[in-house]
Amino acid sequence: MILRKLKTLVNNSDKIFNLVLLVVMVAICFVWAIEESLDVIFDYDRYGYIISLVVLPICFWLSYFAKNPHIARVFTFIYLTLYLLSLTVITFLQAANSGTIYSIASTLQWVPIIYIVSFLFLSNKQAILSAIGIYCLMLLMLFLAHADVFELENTVLQALLLNAAFSQGVCIFCLFGIVKLKMTKDASNLRAEKMEKAANIDGLLGIGNRRMLQRKLNTMATDYSAFSLLLIDVDHFKAINDTHGHLVGDDILRELTQCIENSLRPDDTIGRWGGEEFLAIANGTELAVAEVLAQRIREGVAQHDFATVGRVTVSIGVAQFHPDRSISHTFSSADKALYEAKHAGRNKVVVATQDSD
Ligand code: GH3
Ligand code: MG
Ligand code: MG
Repeated sequence: MILRKLKTLVNNSDKIFNLVLLVVMVAICFVWAIEESLDVIFDYDRYGYIISLVVLPICFWLSYFAKNPHIARVFTFIYLTLYLLSLTVITFLQAANSGTIYSIASTLQWVPIIYIVSFLFLSNKQAILSAIGIYCLMLLMLFLAHADVFELENTVLQALLLNAAFSQGVCIFCLFGIVKLKMTKDASNLRAEKMEKAANIDGLLGIGNRRMLQRKLNTMATDYSAFSLLLIDVDHFKAINDTHGHLVGDDILRELTQCIENSLRPDDTIGRWGGEEFLAIANGTELAVAEVLAQRIREGVAQHDFATVGRVTVSIGVAQFHPDRSISHTFSSADKALYEAKHAGRNKVVVATQDSD
């Protein structure tokens, strides 16, 4: 149960972002309280923490309540970057006066958060560009520090800056690795999606295949949906193949698919059951309405002028699904009705009544 919840959370980056915002807000409160109690708080932070505890809840509101996660992400990223960078500059400038290593060290250890936030929540390109940009600024600060611009004579401080430059470089390098893995994962997800789609589509006709139909029927049966089945079979199709060849036969099947689709309603589903047989799932349909639909399909086909062969007809067996009976029962009722339509002379619709089931 907990594992499933965690999995859904990990799969939903908006939820992770909201969680990260909450964690950051709690962390700020803790750091603030600790720094105040130890009396090591930096003046800039005192105001910065208050501003952060106003800005970050706004970002949270934008993402969670106003359902605008993209704006919230960009806004959060810009805010954190500005805050941490200006904090870095100010701590460097004031370090000489106050001589506090704590202010510089505490600022530097938060800078990697900017990289992580950008890699987690911006696009790959935006993240890489901003990480490199911010890192270059850090290097510039380091260079200026070594050029004595900030009058940092303390060697511990200089070593600390050098250390930070290396550790942040490693941090960005690791994040590049994560991006690469993410890209590979995205590519394989896309491939899996395409394969899943291909596994449900009939290669010749471009409509759903038997697998798709069976899955759809199982879902509809478990949801207790109301529907009817229309089993459609082309009349004397073998003769068409024998007379005009299989390629013409294939073209007829394509044209026929188009013809049947034109008669269906948007909610109905059509698929190829096999060979020259189609199955239409008429959604939420009373038997009488399904019969009207079947007649519309039959007439549509019969009146259509097919290329090369002219007239083609279909026979249709109709049956309604009852939740107290199985799908295969409904299917065999439609099959029997189709058999009757063939025996009644073809180009016919026969409806399986419940008594005849
Ligand atoms: P009936 O009216 O009783 O249904 O007669 P029929 O000739 O349509 O039925 P039968 O089952 O004897 O023949 C079906 C033919 O459909 C045989 C098969 O070669 C052909 N067929 C099945 N799938 C395809 C296909 O994808 N392309 C082509 N060209 N022919 C196909
Ligand atoms: Mg046939
Ligand atoms: Mg057949």
